[in-house]
Amino acid sequence: MTSNSSTAKTPRVRIAPSPTGDPHVGTAYIGLLNFLYARQRGGQFILRIEDTDRARFVETSEQMIFDSLRWLGLNWDEGPDVGGPHGPYRQSERTEIYRKHSDELLASGAAYRCFCTAEELEAQRKAQMAAKQPPRYARTCRFLTREQIDENLAAGKPYVVRMAVPIEGATSFRDELRGEITFDHNNVDDQVLLKSDGFPTYHLANVVDDHLMGVTDVIRAEEWISSTPKHVLLYQAFGWEQPQFWHMPLLRNTDKSKISKRKNPVSLTYYQQSGYTPRAMVNFLGLMGGGMPQNTETNSEVFSLEEMLQRFNFQSISLGGPVFDLIKLKWLNGEYLRLLSADEFLQALRTTLFSDEYLGQIAPLVQTRIETLSQFGDMADFFFRDDVVPPTEVFLPKKRTLEETLAFTGDVLTALESANWTTETIDAALRQVGTDKGWSVKENFMLLRAIITGKTASPPLLESMVVFGKARSIDRVRRFIATQKKLSSAKK
Ligand code: GLU
Repeated sequence: MTSNSSTAKTPRVRIAPSPTGDPHVGTAYIGLLNFLYARQRGGQFILRIEDTDRARFVETSEQMIFDSLRWLGLNWDEGPDVGGPHGPYRQSERTEIYRKHSDELLASGAAYRCFCTAEELEAQRKAQMAAKQPPRYARTCRFLTREQIDENLAAGKPYVVRMAVPIEGATSFRDELRGEITFDHNNVDDQVLLKSDGFPTYHLANVVDDHLMGVTDVIRAEEWISSTPKHVLLYQAFGWEQPQFWHMPLLRNTDKSKISKRKNPVSLTYYQQSGYTPRAMVNFLGLMGGGMPQNTETNSEVFSLEEMLQRFNFQSISLGGPVFDLIKLKWLNGEYLRLLSADEFLQALRTTLFSDEYLGQIAPLVQTRIETLSQFGDMADFFFRDDVVPPTEVFLPKKRTLEETLAFTGDVLTALESANWTTETIDAALRQVGTDKGWSVKENFMLLRAIITGKTASPPLLESMVVFGKARSIDRVRRFIATQKKLSSAKK
């Protein structure tokens, strides 16, 4: 194993979110931990955008990541928008660097070209499944002769670059929270490092960047533990010193499963738009994992970022999965609202729910549909509510059972999740699900109108959903399904 002397250096830590959708609460949780680690030790906190997975790339995501982390006050010292000495901080702008490093590994024999086609790989995978073996690359191209490689290259065959994981033995590394972890090489796949489109995979780009950016401590979620032996092997292949690894316990739903958007809103944008205060959110995330010692005098769970900087202790993080409990977050948020002066509270309303911007988008949707101004409240209440409860007769079309309706709503939810948030794209997505599942446009829109607005008549649905926002619209649909399922199972 490579020796590790990084403890003596000024810490440099990073978060490396992938811009694949709404910014995730898990990013804020890991962001907070990295921020605290750097700030407590006079180090630097880097934001790197890992955008090499072009299939999952979402254009608007990066800006949303910046906005939501800033909203929480987790400011970074280096990043795509603020610059820094080790840029660019966006991986798609670093492809030449990865290619060069991949070439180095090819030259040293630590990696090899794989010319297998997608069909060949699929056949391998099927054979392995049938034989009840774990799916992994069968190393067909690992032992090609120089001549065979040259022939393939001359024939212009596309290839990926794979890591030549040692066939025997094991790789060990120290996890700062768990101690020594060992992976038998039998269980480590010959990982693709560079794809045929020339883009690196996460593993290559992540290790190369952590090294070039001088990262001393990799503080990330525990789901990356099984990737770490690959990373350690790469550090060794390059002859680089490896950072310290800290794998943080994953946030969990209340049923202890890994946090998921079907059970909790996971989008930071949702919390921002739903009137949670950033201080409550940071406090809540600081409670996760047990790094914040209980104040024995006050026994209080309410503490500021400043207090966290003073008292947060990485050594006391416990590995049991911290529960992302919305009830607790709401309670905490209430505590913070009560701490505001009357004036600050008014300000909070005026900059969120009753901002000129939000009201300005809602007003034109309502103006032509009311006769007195006070009817604005009747018509537009759903824009200002935490939730709506559509009465059964409103959302349950006569010819459908509740089960059918909920199954269809689930399909609608999936379609909405992958829609760009414009009236045209929402419309197209909804119509597609309707056609696929045999629901008329009328039934389909009535159902969604009831779920989003709680009414049969409302301002135009699609425009309303655009103004209300993707995160909150989706959450309303998710909550509707969850509530109805709970109610119907309670009846059984
Ligand atoms: N891009 C990875 C993510 O989306 C980074 C994981 C890591 O921190 O190494 O979380």
